[in-house]
Amino acid sequence: MIVTGAGHAGVQLADSLRAEGFSGRITLVDTAVGLPYQRPPLSKDYLGKTADPEYLPLRARSFYADRDVELVEGDPVVSIDRPARTVTLFGGQVVHYSALVLATGARPRRLDIPGVDLAGVCRLRDAGDAATVRAELEHARRVVVIGAGFIGLELAAAALDRGLDVTVVELGSRAMGRAVCPQISAHVRGAHEARGVRFEFGRVVTEILGADGRVHTVVTDDGTRHPADLVIVGVGVLPDDVLAAQCGLGTDDGVVVDGYFRTTDPHVWAIGDCARFPSRHTGLLTRLESVQNAVDHARTLAKTLTGHPTEYDRVPWFWSHQGATKIQIAGIARTEGPVTVIGDIGRGKFSILRFQQDTLVCVESINHPAAHSSARALLAVPGAIDRTTLASVDFDLKRAAS
Ligand code: FAD
Repeated sequence: MIVTGAGHAGVQLADSLRAEGFSGRITLVDTAVGLPYQRPPLSKDYLGKTADPEYLPLRARSFYADRDVELVEGDPVVSIDRPARTVTLFGGQVVHYSALVLATGARPRRLDIPGVDLAGVCRLRDAGDAATVRAELEHARRVVVIGAGFIGLELAAAALDRGLDVTVVELGSRAMGRAVCPQISAHVRGAHEARGVRFEFGRVVTEILGADGRVHTVVTDDGTRHPADLVIVGVGVLPDDVLAAQCGLGTDDGVVVDGYFRTTDPHVWAIGDCARFPSRHTGLLTRLESVQNAVDHARTLAKTLTGHPTEYDRVPWFWSHQGATKIQIAGIARTEGPVTVIGDIGRGKFSILRFQQDTLVCVESINHPAAHSSARALLAVPGAIDRTTLASVDFDLKRAAS
């Protein structure tokens, strides 16, 4: 078995395959050199002034030897020959597979504007990027973050922790607009503003200016010039589905798979950020970017690959830490529908319950971990809990879940 990509999904798959009793050969191939690591800390603790700059490995080195998992570092898969069932690695080696799992993740969306290649203009996907941002933060005074998504706002919080001047420029009208409801956006915006972050919503960055190859100004479409010695581009990611497309597998903003993670080729599977799968929670082909999604895909696929075909049905959940604001989301809401607020907004500890046709579909929490845990239990069966039932227990999620 070849697993292409040793990120959260790929490493979990190797682990779960052995736990499920898979005794065949497992080869885990990655572009990066070094032990596979966790990505979430890269935009959080890793950027702190006092945090240990060592990022966290996903598993200790001994894990790979103990589980007989061959880790191929720095030698990515460059092509797939499906009729021959082989992959070719960057170094030229051709390796045969009985099953091939694509767990190639995603890569940052690039901004196509002048000045984006200047020194001091950074992105954040991998450990190398994080080391660059960390070093830049040591010397920066004025930071412009392009994009008010999760990563952009985590970086804004990290820059603010270091006492820097931070401006966030966002094309949309609110923070994390693709992922959370307007009430959560407003609260998070307020929390950042209270600490000194300036937001420019509804603005497009048109140009980044520099001198001697280094950034000094960010220009927006209204002509405003924002002085900056560090620019962080956080405008989302694109699935890494190039290999799949090249070998003729079905792709559509991600590798298209069925509920068992099968691609259009019965010997090839795809999981994690790169996979577009049918979600019971959205009723649609869906692609998610979260650790939970990657890890639960891997655990489920390991069952199928060891002879117990298992359809994927896990509740999506996600977290983001932005300064003292801890955001947790359980479930998915596709449209804005009615909401109920529980907890104490004034003290910054609350949850927003989101409904579609009276059914609970998503709970977004701010510093409200107990409600988040109950929400995950409640949402395990899609469509099971309606507003009337919740009202009968005074919207007490713990009681409703018990
Ligand atoms: P990845 O972890 O990206 O792994 C894919 C691997 O495939 C990479 O190592 C890549 O090098 C390798 N690869 C690609 N192409 C090839 C090839 N051709 N051959 C071999 N190897 C290849 N999620 C949360 O839930 N909460 C968070 O707080 C959070 N914070 C984040 C902060 C940052 C800075 C980032 C970047 C992501 C964050 N995420 C967070 C998202 C989460 O990390 C991803 O959803 C998760 O890593 C997806 O796992 P994956 O295995 O699908 O992809």
